[in-house]
Amino acid sequence: MRTMYDHIEKIRQHNPEIRLDIGQPDLPVDQRIIEATVEALRAGKTRYTSAYGITQLREALAELHNVSTDQVLITVGGKLPIYAAIYLSGKAAVIHPGWPAYEENLEFLKKPYTTIHATFEDQFCPSFELLDSTFDLILTNYPNNPTGTVLSRAKMKELVDLCNDHQITLLADEIYSFLVYDDFVSFMEFDCEDLIYIGSFSKSFSMTGYRLGYVVSSPQWIRKLEDFQVHTVTCSVEFAQWAALKALTLREEINSKAHDIYVSRKKATEKALAGIGVPFVPCQGAFYLFPKIQVDSELFGEELLKEGVSVIPGVFFGDYSHHFRLSLVSDRMEEAVSRMGAVLERLT
Ligand code: PMP
Repeated sequence: MRTMYDHIEKIRQHNPEIRLDIGQPDLPVDQRIIEATVEALRAGKTRYTSAYGITQLREALAELHNVSTDQVLITVGGKLPIYAAIYLSGKAAVIHPGWPAYEENLEFLKKPYTTIHATFEDQFCPSFELLDSTFDLILTNYPNNPTGTVLSRAKMKELVDLCNDHQITLLADEIYSFLVYDDFVSFMEFDCEDLIYIGSFSKSFSMTGYRLGYVVSSPQWIRKLEDFQVHTVTCSVEFAQWAALKALTLREEINSKAHDIYVSRKKATEKALAGIGVPFVPCQGAFYLFPKIQVDSELFGEELLKEGVSVIPGVFFGDYSHHFRLSLVSDRMEEAVSRMGAVLERLT
């Protein structure tokens, strides 16, 4: 299976001038979080912790999400508990376009799954019609990578009702919920009987390399996922957890600063795309756009790379050969779009 990560590796070798392919925020980690990390190291926070995570961080997250501490698990990134949930479940449903790792994990674990194909014409809003009691798990991600879309409250309610009726676990990967431009509701606000909420410090605090995420779920799921951590990675990195505790105290300030930067990039990029006649569904959250083009997006990506700009072809997110994903992670977005315009003109 050719993965998005293989593709990104190839892009890396080209060392493009403007990298819009990866989901790595270009904003640096706040200096106060760095200080807290160094302080934690100096204070000897270099040991194993409980596989559940340090109590202080669990408590802070429990307070943030208004749940009890035994409903919170600190994890090695948001990715590991997703893998664990897939490992611990039967048949799954994944939504396209979607973050490729869901499907790669399902394939790797040889799990049965069905894909739900959402279309550009429907603003990437999926249909949940096919869900029935044969499914064990549905993987959702809103704000969405790669489209930047969110679901309406009515659509979310429809999915929650279906999951409750058919006893399906709803995994809500909301790691981008810190960055929304319109109304956004979390699946946590619904009466879902079996919900696994995934959070992460990777994007919201640019702490991708700290490998720190968390889960909010029922105490039963928390115990199962903790068991998975015990048998694989043991626990999350101790000094990273202390740094995350500091990050939470700065959350509003850091997130609002990031929000302002991404809003202006989003507006500039959407205006520039409209200017070169490339249609897109406006970004409602996260830092991605998934525009539609006339030509094959793999060819487009290759040609664009020669012009020093990298994007990801749509095929990695499902059957979307005429779409590509760009990340709003550069302050040279308009220049990048203008180079896209020149490439498209050449190819059409
Ligand atoms: N979910 C989605 C939708 C993502 O895009 C990513 C990272 N690209 C993750 C989860 C995992 O993030 P991390 O493991 O760094 O917390």
